[in-house]
Amino acid sequence: MAPKKIYNLETELVLNKNGDQHNASVPPLYQSATFKQDSLSNMGEYDYTRSGNPTRTQLQNHIAKIMMANHAFAVTSGMGCLDVITRLLAPGDEVLAGDDLYGGTNRLLTYLNQKGDLKVQHWDTTNTESFLSKITPNTKMIFLESPTNPLIKVCDVRTIATHAHKVNPDCVVVFDNTMMSPIFMTPLDLGVDIQYESATKYLNGHHDIMAGVIATRDAKLAERVYFVINSTGCGLTPFDCWLLMRGLRTLAVRIERQQQNALRIAEFLSNLGFRVRYPGLKSHPQYALHQSLCRGPGAVLSFETGSIKTSERIVEGTDIFGIAVSFGCVNSLISMPCRMSHASIDEKTRKERDFPEDLIRLCIGIENCDDLIDDLTKALLKSGAVKLNERDELFNVVSVQPKL
Ligand SMILES: *Cc1c(COP(=O)(O)O)cnc(C)c1O
Repeated sequence: MAPKKIYNLETELVLNKNGDQHNASVPPLYQSATFKQDSLSNMGEYDYTRSGNPTRTQLQNHIAKIMMANHAFAVTSGMGCLDVITRLLAPGDEVLAGDDLYGGTNRLLTYLNQKGDLKVQHWDTTNTESFLSKITPNTKMIFLESPTNPLIKVCDVRTIATHAHKVNPDCVVVFDNTMMSPIFMTPLDLGVDIQYESATKYLNGHHDIMAGVIATRDAKLAERVYFVINSTGCGLTPFDCWLLMRGLRTLAVRIERQQQNALRIAEFLSNLGFRVRYPGLKSHPQYALHQSLCRGPGAVLSFETGSIKTSERIVEGTDIFGIAVSFGCVNSLISMPCRMSHASIDEKTRKERDFPEDLIRLCIGIENCDDLIDDLTKALLKSGAVKLNERDELFNVVSVQPKL
């Protein structure tokens, strides 16, 4: 059963009914590791912050509402979420995963597979029929991401989740919604059992904390997730919970502006003849599928230049765009995944997965979009990827034709 949300998301994000005893307009921060009991026999709601803290509860209730979940948990990072979720499995369990997952996800699943803790298979999730055929009654968990980054592959999570539950009603379908955030996607409405997000990205939006959130509608799964968090001590610290709540209030305005900028930039690059990957462009091969699952294309896009050297010069030629891994912050970032975030995936695997070495990823912020386009134009000109003709119009020198 989906929980009832009274107001629209934008309103829920800023609405603050925290029931504070002094009517504080901002939820108070309980920077306390322990809580005293009234007496030996009378324990209060909280005793020790590893097990629970009022500031964390406040955040978790808020997150549950926003993600249309019945239960939500805040932990110390996005990878911390995956660690908690994989601990729900038993030794030797068979799991399926996409073949273009976040680098850190790939690293942890590969580690567990190589140790023999789990049997992990990676398959291309854009080929729905083929992916469905890999699901068996022994499939205990499925890890999905959509759209992936930086290849921007979309997967039909609704069909995969429905089929998985038909083949094995106990199969837990896990979805990483970091790229879309609750503003653009509600995976629990699409049949997913557990969704998680790196709150380091859009949810917090300011790159000043690391955090992760896990959400589910299933009370039994929630109980097991809580058991692991309490046992391992990876619950988010009260101060970081408090900061994350502050970040969340502006989530809707931030990401909507970021998306608006991203769409303009994707069109700008596409019009120049670059091969752009962005689910907001009709040229994306899964444009319609993405639209059927999400409420927007988000603010991450990637493009190819045809040359590693040219890409390097573009990345190093921008001024406003910071060269950094990660995304979701209010400022714009540029990166070369093969040299940075995805360097942990070996070259051979990248080749097998058709990962272009010259790929540039742009994570668009809330800046003035004209400034961003001017900045990119200067970098493109400096790199030699584009030139000006006699009429002062930009044209692409290599003209990489879209072949998606
Ligand atoms: C960043 C990221 C993660 C990991 O989150 P951290 O907070 O960095 O641990 C997981 N999945 C995706 C899609 C990410 O972008």
